[in-house]
Amino acid sequence: MAKRLSQNDPEIVKTFTEVYRIPRQKFDQLKEPKRMAEYFRTDIKKGMIEIGYSIDWRREFTTIDHMYNRFIQWHFRWVNQHGYITKGTHPVAWCPNDKNPVGTVDTQGDIEPEIGESSLIKFRQDEIVYPTATLRPETVFGVTNLWVNQEAQYVQARVDEEQWIVSLEAVATLEHQNHKISIERELSGKELLWKTLTNPVTQAIIPILPARFVEPDNGTGIVMSVPGHAPYDYQALTELKTNPSLPDHAKAIVEKIEPISVITLEGFSQSPAVGIVKKYGITDQKDPRLAEATKDLYSNEFHNGSMNENAKPYTGQSVEQARQAIIQELTNAGKLAKLYEILNKPIICRCGTKVVVHIVDNQWFINYGDPDWKKQAHLCLDQMAILPEERRNEFNYALDWLKERACARKVGLGTRLPWDPDWIIEALSDSVIYMAYYILAKYLAKDWVSFKRFEKSPEDLPDAFFDYIFLGEGSAEAITRETRISKRIIEGIRKEFTYFYPVDMRHSAKDLVSNHLSMYIFHHTALFPRNLWPKGIVANGFVLMERAKMSKSLENIIPLRQAIAEFGADPLRIGVLSTAELNQDTDFSESIVATIQERLVNLVVQSRKLGRRRVSGKTSSSTLDRWMLSRLNSAAQTATTAMEKLRVREVINTILYNIENDTAWYQRRLGPRKKSREGRDRVLKQVFDFKARMIAPLAPHVAEEMWASLGNKGMVAKADWPEFRESLHDSAAEAAESIIRQTLDDTAEILRATGLTPKRIMYYSAALWKWRVYQKALDMAVKSQSDQGTFIRDVMSEPELRSIGKPAADFASKAIRQATQMKEELRKSRVGLELKEMNILEDAIDFFSREFKAEIQVGQEGEKRVSDPKDRARSAEPYRPAIFIE
Ligand SMILES: [Zn+2]
Repeated sequence: MAKRLSQNDPEIVKTFTEVYRIPRQKFDQLKEPKRMAEYFRTDIKKGMIEIGYSIDWRREFTTIDHMYNRFIQWHFRWVNQHGYITKGTHPVAWCPNDKNPVGTVDTQGDIEPEIGESSLIKFRQDEIVYPTATLRPETVFGVTNLWVNQEAQYVQARVDEEQWIVSLEAVATLEHQNHKISIERELSGKELLWKTLTNPVTQAIIPILPARFVEPDNGTGIVMSVPGHAPYDYQALTELKTNPSLPDHAKAIVEKIEPISVITLEGFSQSPAVGIVKKYGITDQKDPRLAEATKDLYSNEFHNGSMNENAKPYTGQSVEQARQAIIQELTNAGKLAKLYEILNKPIICRCGTKVVVHIVDNQWFINYGDPDWKKQAHLCLDQMAILPEERRNEFNYALDWLKERACARKVGLGTRLPWDPDWIIEALSDSVIYMAYYILAKYLAKDWVSFKRFEKSPEDLPDAFFDYIFLGEGSAEAITRETRISKRIIEGIRKEFTYFYPVDMRHSAKDLVSNHLSMYIFHHTALFPRNLWPKGIVANGFVLMERAKMSKSLENIIPLRQAIAEFGADPLRIGVLSTAELNQDTDFSESIVATIQERLVNLVVQSRKLGRRRVSGKTSSSTLDRWMLSRLNSAAQTATTAMEKLRVREVINTILYNIENDTAWYQRRLGPRKKSREGRDRVLKQVFDFKARMIAPLAPHVAEEMWASLGNKGMVAKADWPEFRESLHDSAAEAAESIIRQTLDDTAEILRATGLTPKRIMYYSAALWKWRVYQKALDMAVKSQSDQGTFIRDVMSEPELRSIGKPAADFASKAIRQATQMKEELRKSRVGLELKEMNILEDAIDFFSREFKAEIQVGQEGEKRVSDPKDRARSAEPYRPAIFIE
């Protein structure tokens, strides 16, 4: 970025001025890489403080601090001595402009370049080689022609010891891959057309034909054509055959070409490419769906195909077997060379240059391909918690996929390789065990003060010091003798390290699974004993902006500090957290943040009001109070379980919505404030106490304000998380309130349907015998004995119920049906529960009359005390009182 800024790259200038709002007069100093890094480090740190992260800043460090460099040298010396580093000649992703290997952190859009190996098959015209790149050398038996792009520029060049024809663009590709090249002459694609050459395997004579889909910068710009098995080739051939402007000599050549079948694939014709092009309805070789059709067919043939009689001597072999065998045989015969390509191209370096594959001689690699190391890493992963669990497969894949990886470069900021100081350790390799360094950073923070008796510079600390601190090898006494650092300090650091390590939970993002997070696992298993291996990783999704990916081109990036200034820290935090679970991307929406801001303000306002009210001594608690506390308690339980799995959205829903709704119901039931003020305030204080504790990790500033307003001492951040208390759980109170709620809803529904303005409302609780039958039914259902006939016979065997006759039998039949169909949770909560429904309804008379502005009477089915002019009482059922409205 510093380089691009120095060159006044318009994109960087625009990003700096418009997105980050950096004043132009600062640009000059930012052209210096360290100043640039320092600028963003400071800005990000301010953002972290403003949003309220609880960070121990004594442990702050950067990866270019001298002491950190010393730590990394120790780390690399250790892995080198233990055989994890190799030196060799391997392909790496490379920026030709920077002349450096390129990894995820070096590319625009943070994309990890993937390198694939393809085969260059050498077709010949006498002594001249026409190399064609292919991922499927086994189809060489089915080649009918070669393709070139007649608009492209080609060259004849001396490549190593041979004469090759390749596209002009391929020259650089080959040079990067260690071929010695000198161009002898240039020629156009047109000049190559209609020439004939020899298939090195079948010795067939084939022509060179034109195709528009051939890209000169892909492979060598020359493509072998297998129309029987490659959709692109079949489509290009079809177009050529129907091209009216073809000269006669060309027409004669093209007409003779028919697809050659070499792979048998069940469910397909002899030439699967023909069928698949028709299936997709493709009629143009530039149709993007050809890529999809190709992928589809290649994978199917690879997994299910076998070589047929045209592919002697590989007939009958699977595609996979044949491919390996052919590569081996052609390589031995000098008919095949390797070509590496970026599979997920184009990838652009941050400097703006296209990334290529480069082979560096004597480059340093970390050997993640070591099978024993892989085994260790898998062992560690298997014991780790991965959140969300769905990502575990990506980790398994990444651990298997990682191979030798270039770990050093020639330029950049970082630590020099201790045994080869021309090289600098690159950014993904020097940051895999830095979590351990937080321990040391604290002791070094105050200008080396803890180490003042060590009279040299940090660079001179001996490896034995690190061996003791991090690996427990050697002794504190020996290090004291060697460095004069006090034994107390050395032992203190070691003690602190073993206190904090292993890392319980590493929070990171999903795009780092395939590199940083997997390397983190690898290196920990290499260096540390098993008890210090990481225990868990959280891999978060991304933050979207109003459902769109944040990107410079969409101009929808809001830097963190600007968002905090605009929306406030806590609304921003909750706004981002409340829209997604871990396995999804989260979505930022201004309107959601605005609603949340309102709710948070309300929490503070109410806490202040409650804080001013005094709650004296003890007042007896009503069923309603017990209901509120029971609900609060279940909410705390739900939030706790969700928090343990980091299902934060559920936690927010519970605190900001579910408890709010219950509190609103509680207040509505109590009515005007004058009544039962003491009980109410006591209960509400308890509710807000829970809320402040639970919201503290999510909205820390609001939580502290609530906590202090409620009259608490100290910080809520240090207060305990509310505990689920069995004693607060009250199923009778919960059942009672659900009856009131149901009755309220039923009554309102009747009023809405009839349009009545009620003068008097009568509620009839079900007769006691119905309650007895209902309980019996629940008992039976719980024991899973729900045979209706048996149940009714059993009920009717009681003399009292028999004397009621048909109504008792009818109700018994209904009750057992209900009990068996009921949700298990509800059934469990009701079985054995002795409720006095009459009393519950009577206690709520005030509430109902306030709600409906009518006189309320409560009676029991079968008792004559309350009038029942329309004979409604007999339809009453347990938990569902009958209603009559006048
Ligand atoms: Zn570059």
